[in-house]
Amino acid sequence: MANAEKMTNEDIWQAVLGEVELAVSPANFVTWFKNTSILSVEDGRVNIRVPNGFAKEWLENKYNRYIITALRNFIEDVKEISCSVVASPEAPPKKELDSAVPASAQVPNLGKISHESLSLRANLNPRYIFDNFVVGANNELAHAACEAVAKSPGSAYNPLFIYGGVGLGKTHLLQSVGNALLENNPDTKIIYATAEYFTNQYVDMVKNNQAHEFKRAYINADLLLIDDIQFIGGKEKTQEEFFHVFNTLHQTNKQIVLTSDRPPKAIAMLEDRLRSRFEGGMIADVSRPDIETRIAILQYKLSDKKTDIEIDNEVLSYIATNIQHNIRELEGALNRVIAACELSQSEPSLANVKKILGDIIHSGKKKGVTFKQIIEGVAEYYDVATQDLVNRCRRRDIVRPRQIAMFLMRAELQASYPGIGEQLGGRDHTTAMHAYEKISKELEQDEELEQELNTIKSKIYAV
Ligand code: ADP
Ligand code: MG
Repeated sequence: MANAEKMTNEDIWQAVLGEVELAVSPANFVTWFKNTSILSVEDGRVNIRVPNGFAKEWLENKYNRYIITALRNFIEDVKEISCSVVASPEAPPKKELDSAVPASAQVPNLGKISHESLSLRANLNPRYIFDNFVVGANNELAHAACEAVAKSPGSAYNPLFIYGGVGLGKTHLLQSVGNALLENNPDTKIIYATAEYFTNQYVDMVKNNQAHEFKRAYINADLLLIDDIQFIGGKEKTQEEFFHVFNTLHQTNKQIVLTSDRPPKAIAMLEDRLRSRFEGGMIADVSRPDIETRIAILQYKLSDKKTDIEIDNEVLSYIATNIQHNIRELEGALNRVIAACELSQSEPSLANVKKILGDIIHSGKKKGVTFKQIIEGVAEYYDVATQDLVNRCRRRDIVRPRQIAMFLMRAELQASYPGIGEQLGGRDHTTAMHAYEKISKELEQDEELEQELNTIKSKIYAV
């Protein structure tokens, strides 16, 4: 404060950035604060230059408190901030900000955990860390819960159950918890396994009369991370074993984090006692990112890559508009654009990028346009036979999945009601119309149903 009079706006802004940097994740910092500066200070109003409308939106609405608090250290009478979009800044503070992402510096030391018995090594991907994770409205809660758990394992929420569709960052978050703990304490015994791996390993070890050792290895963990837990649905023996492992760890306050493509109550053939355990801690979902978050992810991934290619926002926005369902695909598209432009030494102009991504974006749309994929996606999600959906089966447990399939055919394919009726059990068109209207109405009120449909859609589009 003392020297505030002598500080230039630039000095002040650098100091503010220094504080903001401590308060937000590096990914968010780079994404939202790159190429920003103070344009003017007048009557307690600070006008900030931002490179695009998305940054304006986030700084004004989401980060305004951080910024105002930090500014008050230097300019006492700050009342509000506003942002002005100025496309190309003359001085690029890019380099400085980029170095805020300690991508390689943060790679944790995985060496020490290799003494795990039974080769149950942590198996974590060192790139899945909180610092590389872009937080948006779609994953805010899950991200906060994971960070809380990494800070105080065993006491914040236990278990933590994260669910959501394909390619939306569940595995990334799950492993971030493990990597964060390892970084603080390399001796933490962390087990990361997919539920499928857990199941196969259990079966193998039972065969070899080693069931006892199997269990001992798992109950020795300080942190147990199980990915895609929905896989144990219908696998009785595995569920029983997992139940015991779960209880032992839980009773000794060892942290358990689970991911799933659906909430506990939607996992078919899951024992009630496990279901209630899964629901006994904290449940958080990840959903599809909105367009702003998709663009932010692209901007971040681009800044994180070793390339000189610059892609302007119009083009990033084109990619984000056309790839909506899956963050892995989003990154894949970006990688492809970079590789193609580097190879042909061409610019990533909109026309060029449309050509490069032509088949992905095109087939992405076409892919959805089959009845078959919807039927298969719905059948898989509800664990019913596709045959039962498409035949005249009148069983009660088929009614709901069939209505969902009818709804999706209308909503995603704009199919005709008679056409839909024909695909699904030779029903009358009024049945299809009724199903569509019923589900549409429910959707207005029921957020869980919306999430459920998003999960099914992400499966359909991920094929
Ligand atoms: P899921 O387990 O939900 O299927 P993943 O965690 O495997 O999804 O994520 C797919 C890819 O997208 C990974 O490469 C991951 O790093 C990336 N990803 C997902 N969400 C984000 C995010 N919010 N910020 C940065 N990268 C992300
Ligand atoms: Mg995953």
